[in-house]
Amino acid sequence: MTSFIDRLQHSFFDTFREQGNLHFSPVLPARLVDPIIVSHNRLLAEELGIATTDLDQPEMLELMSGNFMAANVKPVALVYSGHQFGVWAGQLGDGRAMTLGELPVGTDASLWDIQLKGAGPTPYSRFSDGRAVLRSSIREYLCSEAMHGLGIATTRALCLVDSKTQVYREEIESGATVCRVAQSHIRFGSFEHFHYRKEPDAVRALADYVIQRHFPEWVKDTDRYLKFFRNTVFKTARMIAQWQSVGFNHGVMNTDNMSILGDTIDYGPFGFLDSYNPDFICNHTDANGRYAFKNQPSVGLWNLNALATALTSLISNEDLIAELTKYEPEFLQQFRQIMTTKLGLQTYASGDEQLINQLLDLMDTNQVDYTILFRSLCEFSDSNQTLRDQFTDREGFDDWAKNYSRRLQQQDWTDLQRREQMLSINPKFVLRNYMAQACIEKAQKGDYSEVHRLLEVMQSPYKDHPKAEEYASLPPDWAGQISISCSS
Ligand code: AMP
Ligand code: MG
Repeated sequence: MTSFIDRLQHSFFDTFREQGNLHFSPVLPARLVDPIIVSHNRLLAEELGIATTDLDQPEMLELMSGNFMAANVKPVALVYSGHQFGVWAGQLGDGRAMTLGELPVGTDASLWDIQLKGAGPTPYSRFSDGRAVLRSSIREYLCSEAMHGLGIATTRALCLVDSKTQVYREEIESGATVCRVAQSHIRFGSFEHFHYRKEPDAVRALADYVIQRHFPEWVKDTDRYLKFFRNTVFKTARMIAQWQSVGFNHGVMNTDNMSILGDTIDYGPFGFLDSYNPDFICNHTDANGRYAFKNQPSVGLWNLNALATALTSLISNEDLIAELTKYEPEFLQQFRQIMTTKLGLQTYASGDEQLINQLLDLMDTNQVDYTILFRSLCEFSDSNQTLRDQFTDREGFDDWAKNYSRRLQQQDWTDLQRREQMLSINPKFVLRNYMAQACIEKAQKGDYSEVHRLLEVMQSPYKDHPKAEEYASLPPDWAGQISISCSS
């Protein structure tokens, strides 16, 4: 079997090199001091066809800590721009991420980008150090796998490395790397970059590359650019509907943090809802709540508008507007469908929207925990005290429960069938901030055991994990004090 390192290849970069476009810069990682592998994601390694023996080779630690570059590994940093908090920010780019190469996977040899995040400065680092600290790397490593475990499209993480490299943030922290794996690292901002530089040929070359690599079946179609944009609209709507359904708040939905494939990307100050609160703002720096939980669906559309603007040299305005108009109905349809399933309903019927909204309103006013409520709803019966006890307004809940019970009687599932189905869509575990925080504090003292435990739990959040039952309970009181900012 060919080793992982030998399988890394560079077709993308060679294509662009031939075109002479400035889409990327060759870079070299900077070594981490005394690196140590905190965790390998063996599940992902298996999916990528990487042998366990490869993971355990000393060369793997070398590669993942930027200490070694095999002859065929030629890292690059990609350029992009973007709108940050609604304002045009100009050129950004991979300031601390380096794509090592592409890995052909499976019988169809589909390509996955292998990227090292936190590997030192690049031409796009501006005034920063190109590093990532252990704290933020643990959060990205665990949360991208948690999202995957929840069935939500996301970048993945293969490996987490800690080191004795000192990184200066509000205090000195240890430098770390995450090996990020994704089918694409092209962002909305990648297209904006060339559009605002008035380089339509580069916009076209980038679109052709994306279509060639991800949608080869459309290469010869005259409307291939439109199909590509339509796909981004639909995938983004679906991704955000899923975020809303699990209570995920991304926190920094700038256009440079939006993947053209509709994958969740760039885990920064994200947070999962504890008690249901549509106004929740996970990002301490986002004082105005532009990226508050309830705003995510409309921000998705705002960002797609920004992408549409960047594609005006390829697609007519009428066509772009027609596609953008489909976003809201698609989002609503997806969201309704997921929420219907979360309630254990076989199909969506008129009146169900009211049932969903009434429950969410009750949860909001009664400060009911989002994840726990839906998980315990799987056990719904007419006399379920555990459910009722989660509401201070018990009569309000009783009224809702009566309607819900009536609705359930209209379908032919047994309670057991409904329960089975609901348990497979209402997670028992989500990566709440306090869990990541406790795990980080241990890891900063050199004890990585919690990283391993949380990874295992988050990779199968719908299952029972008898050794981690406490993570299925209400968060401790101190959880409310945690404040997460962009500093990472
Ligand atoms: P983010 O908020 O993580 O999406 O990053 C926004 C921009 O800042 C991107 O261009 C990043 O590459 C860059 N950036 C963030 N942190 C660093 C860092 N420590 N060193 C260099 N660039 C960074
Ligand atoms: Mg980013």
